[in-house]
Amino acid sequence: MSTHHWIDVAVQTPAHSQVGGLLSYRSPFVVQPGQLVRVPLGKRDVLGVVWALRDTAPADMPESAVRDVLGVLEGLAPLDPAWRQLVQFSAQYYQRSLGEVALSALPPQLRDLSNEQLARRLKKQNTERTVQTTPGPALSDEQSAVLAQMASGSGPFLLFGSTGSGKTEVYLQAVERMLTTAPQAQALLMVPEINLTPQLEERVQARFGADAVVSMHSGMTPAQRLKGWLAAHAGHARIVLGTRMAIFASMPHLKLIVVDEEHDPSYKQQEGARYSARDLAVYRGRLQNAPVLLASATPSLESWHLSRPAHDDDPGGRYQRLLMPSRIGTGLLPKVRRVDMNKQPRRTVLSAPLVAALQERVERGEQCMLLLNRRGYAPVLHCADCGWKSECQHCSAFRVFHKIDRTLRCHHCGLTERVPRACPECGNADIAPIGRGTEQLEEHLGELLAHVKRPDGAPIRIARIDADTTRLKGALESQLASVHSGEVDILVGTQMIAKGHDFRRITLVAAVNPDTALFSSDFRAPERLFALLMQAAGRAGREAAQSASSEMWVQTFHPQHALFEALKKHDYPAFAASELAERTAADLPPISHQALLRADARTQEAAQALLNAARETLEAQLSADPATADLVMQVSVYPAVPMSMQRVADVERAQMLLESPSRMALQKMLWHLHSVLHQVRSQPEHKGVIRWLVDVDPQAI
Ligand code: ADP
Ligand code: ZN
Ligand code: ZN
Repeated sequence: MSTHHWIDVAVQTPAHSQVGGLLSYRSPFVVQPGQLVRVPLGKRDVLGVVWALRDTAPADMPESAVRDVLGVLEGLAPLDPAWRQLVQFSAQYYQRSLGEVALSALPPQLRDLSNEQLARRLKKQNTERTVQTTPGPALSDEQSAVLAQMASGSGPFLLFGSTGSGKTEVYLQAVERMLTTAPQAQALLMVPEINLTPQLEERVQARFGADAVVSMHSGMTPAQRLKGWLAAHAGHARIVLGTRMAIFASMPHLKLIVVDEEHDPSYKQQEGARYSARDLAVYRGRLQNAPVLLASATPSLESWHLSRPAHDDDPGGRYQRLLMPSRIGTGLLPKVRRVDMNKQPRRTVLSAPLVAALQERVERGEQCMLLLNRRGYAPVLHCADCGWKSECQHCSAFRVFHKIDRTLRCHHCGLTERVPRACPECGNADIAPIGRGTEQLEEHLGELLAHVKRPDGAPIRIARIDADTTRLKGALESQLASVHSGEVDILVGTQMIAKGHDFRRITLVAAVNPDTALFSSDFRAPERLFALLMQAAGRAGREAAQSASSEMWVQTFHPQHALFEALKKHDYPAFAASELAERTAADLPPISHQALLRADARTQEAAQALLNAARETLEAQLSADPATADLVMQVSVYPAVPMSMQRVADVERAQMLLESPSRMALQKMLWHLHSVLHQVRSQPEHKGVIRWLVDVDPQAI
């Protein structure tokens, strides 16, 4: 390696900075790409990653202005080319600066360590670990078949397996096989939210020994994060168990990536670089030649579509689909019962048959779970007399009720009208937004069941778990523990309680009011609802002996809706087929690809004006150049509309949707848009704009 005086270094720069996060320095040291260095930036000393060595001084600045590298972090192997490629791709694809993505992927404490401190840390780590695994149970036939398919294919794989079919056991055995066949191999095991599933962490550690496993998630202290990162980077940690951030872990010997509950929206980062860790897992797997296993009982429609079998003139998807339809042992899935709320007295919250069923279970000493699904669904207006809902005439979507100016707006085409005084269909003046909260439900339930006693004669105990009750550290764990220990008879909560918990004594799960999601402005709402209800159903009857009498109740005004029909049969493929048919007809993802451009400003007009100006400039520039004129045809750019959360903390927010059947065309368009925004943003009439950002493959529009 020859000495290079000029190097490009990735440093933390503002999100949209024109330099893209790479700055040139002169290095008095011999360095290699991927090495960590300290460099001056403005008045500060910052951490940077050597990105490239250059043969000549940078052309765009006088040599005397180029500053010197201050030092090299010694003892750390350079970040490998695959890691740098992953960062580079993520920055490009999600439209952020490379420096921002690179630096936010490193543990913050690395910035503050002296070389002496770093040396001490590195010395503390054991050098060699060949791993002790505790054997798992004998595999079921379905589990064995899936592992055999994995061994003979290259992936990516989509494991479609029922709740309780033993998917986790498959990951553990796949990891075990990989560890025993490749001497240094590392595995990345990703989960949506670790604090919701502390059981999994224990299970992995029990299997492979606590030393071989490190966790990576945002709930860790800076010191823990640094320790875990160093262990993975040095190859000592053989298994990294983490949330979406773990996709950027430095793992030089990565040989397997597992994405558990791959459909979960929390794999999408919602600030900064808005990456999808699930999608990056597939990219990284290809890059490092590591098989990728995505798994879910209710796969995302994206992954389901990508794993479709070949058919007539369709060559099929790139993913290989693996199936585990049965619960382990003799366990059965709960019986699904629908309560037709049209036949209940008006304004009924909990129907009489459900209340009776709850009472019966509690008196028998069994546990119940009540789910109220509210989060993330903007309310839609509804007429209880004739069933009218605020549908858009031009789109297969519902218009959203904006309370702030009392309008109904379509987030696809922008159609806006004042909220009608009465139902446009039947004249009923009593039209209302749909929606109700968990707190009210808990109180109501307490009143309805005040007279009910447990088998030991003690009064019934109801507990609520949602974002409000779990704000304090440790609150969720202690509340979950009280459910596991049997103190709680009825658990009321949001989707938090439906995820992954291995509750052993719950025999009845009820969705109180799932209908809102059927009429959301967000086209993904039914997909999310179905996943949530299937997950929730999966909490009932996990003890095989109780599974035959376990039930999932759904209160609905639309008992015949295809979604509930599919739920009754536990038939995800049927649901996915009907949903995909609708998406195809409407040219929505996964058939098309989307990106959102968003602007925040003091007024809604200013936010929209920037977006619309960018759109006009973009189309004018691209159409004028024969080399880019095609792009205008390939990508639809819609006019700006207010976001459904239109105002947050006195900031007005607007968005503009870009849509294309071609991911490549959409990416090209975004690159043009990026430079157009820099031009437009600097014009004096757009001074009022606070910021803009791009969300590629947005999860909610
Ligand atoms: P999933 O992840 O599909 O919901 P799990 O892997 O958690 O399912 O398995 C459900 C239950 O079955 C767990 O209690 C697990 O320990 C048990 N289990 C999984 N595989 C086996 C097996 N091959 N033999 C016996 N029990 C198993
Ligand atoms: Zn009506
Ligand atoms: Zn519309």
